[in-house]
Amino acid sequence: MTANRGVHQISNTPGTAVAGLPFDEALAAAGEGYVARQIASALIRSQPGEQFNELLSAASGLRAQLKGITITFSKKVFIPLTNLCRDYCGYCTFRKDPDQPGARTMTPDEVIAVAQAGAELGCKEALFSLGDRPEALFPQMRVTLDKLGHRTTLSYLAEMSRRVLEESSLLPHVNPGLMGRRDLEQLREVSPSMGLMLESTSERLLQPGMAHDNAPDKPPALRLRTIEEAGRLKIPFTSGILIGIGETLDERIDALFALKDLHERYGHIQEVIVQNFRAKPDIPMKDHSEPDFYDHARTLAVARLVLRDINVQAPPNLSDENYPALLDAGINDWGGISPLTRDFINPEKPWPQIDSLREKTAAKGLSLRERLSVYPEFVYKDEFIDLGLMNRVRMMSEGNGMAAS
Ligand code: SF4
Repeated sequence: MTANRGVHQISNTPGTAVAGLPFDEALAAAGEGYVARQIASALIRSQPGEQFNELLSAASGLRAQLKGITITFSKKVFIPLTNLCRDYCGYCTFRKDPDQPGARTMTPDEVIAVAQAGAELGCKEALFSLGDRPEALFPQMRVTLDKLGHRTTLSYLAEMSRRVLEESSLLPHVNPGLMGRRDLEQLREVSPSMGLMLESTSERLLQPGMAHDNAPDKPPALRLRTIEEAGRLKIPFTSGILIGIGETLDERIDALFALKDLHERYGHIQEVIVQNFRAKPDIPMKDHSEPDFYDHARTLAVARLVLRDINVQAPPNLSDENYPALLDAGINDWGGISPLTRDFINPEKPWPQIDSLREKTAAKGLSLRERLSVYPEFVYKDEFIDLGLMNRVRMMSEGNGMAAS
């Protein structure tokens, strides 16, 4: 029974303002496994020092209880199928217009060459990342697609995913932006897991001068619709939030709860990434301040306490040499690590070597294990894997769902 019954009666309404809930009360409620919005709002406001340490301790304790000492990663290659994109997110260094230097759509031969080179190095995941619907804005992309025999980027992506399956040993994991039901159905047959960052549930970020003011694919309702449709279709799905792009702390909490709510309805969220904004010299938000370690870690810790057994990831290459300390905030996954391709989204931030990642994880008393792009929890759930991919996925797994060595 609870000793904090009063706390449990706090409203769980989206966007509810913090009513001055004391941190200690919020932490006690979290310790009992109950984290409503207002409790999360109080926790994320932990002060540096004792409160912050207590928050991290609660989050890493819950990780130990639910995940043991295992920290996972996926050995992948990164395939930037096209960097043309119809959106202009203020923090993006990946996207290009067709006439900009570096604008590029990969040919089928280039895609297969990267996948096969990755397979040689023992990779198991082909992560397709690409701009969102460039053909809707750029006639040049429509010409390119026409030459490739497609009308849409998503249809070209489906063909490339199929070819990766046929011509390499890798599993595609597609991350192409918004998808409708038919896109998801088509891709489900060739990509056993998929992803779409929710990023934020803040409508404010669409206003002039904000991060998403010229990004037609970033209204939160559209992104939630894709994630929900993926749930209806039972697709193991990766999502996450991007912090430090102008959202408030409560808006961060709202985004975490939106993902939690979808997972409670459909059971398909395999992973939530808490990605920290990094300023780059060539982006509109180049002068915007970055979240520091404290801000990133407190958000990760609250994500663990809110999301409980959902896997929580932080990208190690976005926190410089300090990244192992993020383990103290309760994460249990480092995401995809590539021994071959650079991080095209954050090209100035190299991934750590896998051996170094293993050593630094072990130094925290934790054990690094390789997973597939499909998380272990989903590998043996028949309804979550297309029949045509089931054997392939399971042949690549051990009995516990981890990647076979
Ligand atoms: S973050 Fe994604 S959607 Fe936004 S501009 Fe970059 S590639 Fe396009």
